[in-house]
Amino acid sequence: MLNGKSAIITGSTSGIGLGVAKRMAKAGANVMLNGSRAASEAEKLIEEIKALSGGRSKVAYCAADMTKEADRIKLVEETNKAFGAIDILINNAGIQYVAKVEDFPMDKWNEVIAVNLSSIFHLIKQTLPAMKQRKWGRIIQVASVHGLIGSTKKAAYTAAKHGLIGLTKVVALENATHGVTCNAICPGWVLTPLVEKQIDAIAKEKGISFEDAKIDLLSEKQPSLQFATPDQLGGLAVFLSSDDAAQITGVPLPMDGGWTAR
Ligand code: NAD
Repeated sequence: MLNGKSAIITGSTSGIGLGVAKRMAKAGANVMLNGSRAASEAEKLIEEIKALSGGRSKVAYCAADMTKEADRIKLVEETNKAFGAIDILINNAGIQYVAKVEDFPMDKWNEVIAVNLSSIFHLIKQTLPAMKQRKWGRIIQVASVHGLIGSTKKAAYTAAKHGLIGLTKVVALENATHGVTCNAICPGWVLTPLVEKQIDAIAKEKGISFEDAKIDLLSEKQPSLQFATPDQLGGLAVFLSSDDAAQITGVPLPMDGGWTAR
């Protein structure tokens, strides 16, 4: 479906980003992985993802911190060098910090806004002109249900993800006649390292097992009582990258087991 297209997926050595990278490769796209680990540590992952494409896709890795201008420039340059173009940009890298507003450390606020919002604006700004020139592009944010609603103790994350959905709408409107779409996927709970930390915290706070804390977490918010999976989110990203999705733009799309239906 995506033969000949090239994608950057930020924060793609774990969790949702890795699931999206695998589905992109299965669909035939070239994949630029990104994360903080050294290039030598990513070699096994590169081979694994190449194999998923049946050898059709080129796969590479760029160690780059999305909050740093020089690193973002390096990511774009290395992708262009490796694949010749960037057709699909998937802004997935994200972090969480949990505290009440009055206890929220200033540096954590700044860090969450920098990773989950500002770096995405800068990376879109860098990649958009070439997409417009080629009259084809897909920009997909991995936002969150917290881009649509709030939860206690997640001020910075909720503010950043709401901001990200606003940014998505503006990019969609500004590029509606240029063949470039911009959409935001809004996952509910997905079992990844980011959420495992929160489950650990519940288990400690309530003196219950990790398994019981998982059920506790799901029952509070996600009516299906099941986690969405990185693979399912990857499937949605592939669909949004396809020509069938050419008229879907500026949209936040929940995959949340009914969380935001209440
Ligand atoms: P994760 O911790 O497994 O993945 C986040 C990735 O981002 C990691 O690989 C990390 O190395 C990378 N990253 C963090 N800061 C970075 C930076 N400055 N530069 C480059 N990479 C950086 O967690 P995940 O759950 O897979 O999260 C992926 C995205 O999904 C995030 O944007 C998160 O907000 C969003 N999300 C997750 C859930 C969930 O339930 N897990 C729900 C809604 C939204």
